[in-house]
Amino acid sequence: MRTSIATVCLSGTLEEKLRAAARAGFDGVEIFEQDLVVSPDSPEAIATLAADLGISLDLYQPFRDLEGVDEAQFQKNLRRAETKFQLMARLGIDTILLCSNVGTATISDDGVVVEQLRRLGDLADRHRVNIAYEALAWGRFVSEYDHAWDLVKAADHPRIGTCLDSFHILSRNTDLSRIAEIPGDKIFFLQLADAPALTMDVLSWSRHHRVFPGEGAWDLSDFLTRIAATGYTGPVSLEVFNDSFRQGDTNRTAVDGLRSLRWLEASIADASADSAAPGSGLDLQPLPEVEEPRGINYVELSTDDLGALTRQMHQLGFQFIGYHRSKPHVQLWLRGKARIIVSEVTEEAGTSSAPVNPTFLRGIGFEVADSKSAMERAALLHAKEVPRDQAHNDEVLRGVFAPDGSEVFFHQFNETTPAWIREFGHDHDEQISHIEHVNLAQPSNHYDEAVLFYTSLLALHAQSSQDVPSPSGLVRSQVMSSTDGSVRMPLNVSPQPNAEAVAGRGIGSVAEPYPEHVAVACEDVFHAAATALSRGLDFLPVPQNYYEDLDSRFDLDPEFLQRLQAHHVLYDRDEHGEFLHFYTSTIGSVFFEMIERRGDYLGFGAPDAPVRLAAQHRKNVQLSA
Ligand code: MG
Ligand code: MG
Repeated sequence: MRTSIATVCLSGTLEEKLRAAARAGFDGVEIFEQDLVVSPDSPEAIATLAADLGISLDLYQPFRDLEGVDEAQFQKNLRRAETKFQLMARLGIDTILLCSNVGTATISDDGVVVEQLRRLGDLADRHRVNIAYEALAWGRFVSEYDHAWDLVKAADHPRIGTCLDSFHILSRNTDLSRIAEIPGDKIFFLQLADAPALTMDVLSWSRHHRVFPGEGAWDLSDFLTRIAATGYTGPVSLEVFNDSFRQGDTNRTAVDGLRSLRWLEASIADASADSAAPGSGLDLQPLPEVEEPRGINYVELSTDDLGALTRQMHQLGFQFIGYHRSKPHVQLWLRGKARIIVSEVTEEAGTSSAPVNPTFLRGIGFEVADSKSAMERAALLHAKEVPRDQAHNDEVLRGVFAPDGSEVFFHQFNETTPAWIREFGHDHDEQISHIEHVNLAQPSNHYDEAVLFYTSLLALHAQSSQDVPSPSGLVRSQVMSSTDGSVRMPLNVSPQPNAEAVAGRGIGSVAEPYPEHVAVACEDVFHAAATALSRGLDFLPVPQNYYEDLDSRFDLDPEFLQRLQAHHVLYDRDEHGEFLHFYTSTIGSVFFEMIERRGDYLGFGAPDAPVRLAAQHRKNVQLSA
């Protein structure tokens, strides 16, 4: 599949954008006019640069407000078009995007528009230029793709075709069945964008909130399948207007974009292989398949405060198992099947100016059906491999960096105890406890990238997002999970102004890291809490007001309520079951949660999250006072 990206998706100068697109592996770009206008480079120099980089210039865009105007205005518009055709010749671009008129159209008459498109086509033919006519969702008289297609069809001119843009079509919820009527060779260009489900005016939605395929709420696989079935063979291009992307790192956004197309391409390639559906015109390439992960094999915490962290783990009932046989600073702690690797980070001599690493969640090992193909797939999706020292007799373990800098390892699933724990001198797991979810903080500007990362590399599904109030703002929370729930990861976007100050991974300031946590399932939360109490655990305090409110909400047995409060246990229930849990205080940017689920309660105690956030905020205020 030929891939392309509009320069408007990326930050930087035109030259930087072209270099980033080429480096990420795109086949071509759409030149957005504004990027050229502000560039000091001549059109010829841009063409030369693109050729040197090995990318094609696929489209010049946009040309606005041509059709549906009176004759005097139309003459002016043709003259304006001709100057663009001459410019395109200098750039070596043969196709221009024509947006349906939003500003100057005064004539709502398809006959007039058809005639004007035909005359534009004649002019274009003299310059050997193709016109891709696109219905903008907010066009004055033409706002639907099938209307634009009817006009193109009636114009019946070899230089006039249509451009289909998923945003303009899906944002209007237009019936997609008429796409099948369009011959593939009359689709002169294809633009893809996804978007979150928002209720707002469509122009603002389009200009600020488009995201790459897989990062929003739409079914782009279905959309692209329909396009493939027309026989379209041109580039599949990203046109994404997004405020964060435009401020983000150019190379990183380009990689995120290419990943979205590779993932989308593979999702259709797999489906068309199954059903023998058409799609060969796009030359779709599959990726090594990945099944949903079966569970979390381990979590790795990195710490500069080994004493505090391991003391807390002891208080929670974890047992120290041993040191790694070839990495003396790495320990294994177990509570049943909940496996925590603790790696101690010490300040290296001579680097005293470097910030001390606080305790942070360094990585997660996911159990996957085929670790080798998961890693191959990750590499083809341009994830960066984690460099790792490995002794010759250690279990081979490979992984990649997630967008927030944490490490994601692909661990071969197997019903038995993993072999690697022998590297810590241990040989079997108890069965009672396990890691039930991991809650990760995400910098807001890489949040969409994270959703696509976990969707495309690990086949996790994004659940609908929720906003949780905290003293410093709303925390956006979205759960990524496997279908059977064996892997669940709430991703939280912190409201802090410096959103990169997460988890102490050294990206941005670490002034007030947004905490992340490991949630451990246990059989009896009161027993776990009592043990922790007797071992002196610093629980996250829960206010009296919470328990009074709990009583009014659930009309609890007074003895049970008293028991909850005495054990610092929070409570929620729904029609399926109950949820009992307590939190530890935070060390560095990590805390723990112990959980007991009763019945089929599937949530995460969402009503309790604001209580936790407020308590953590109070602690932070105390600490900094
Ligand atoms: Mg468009
Ligand atoms: Mg994080």
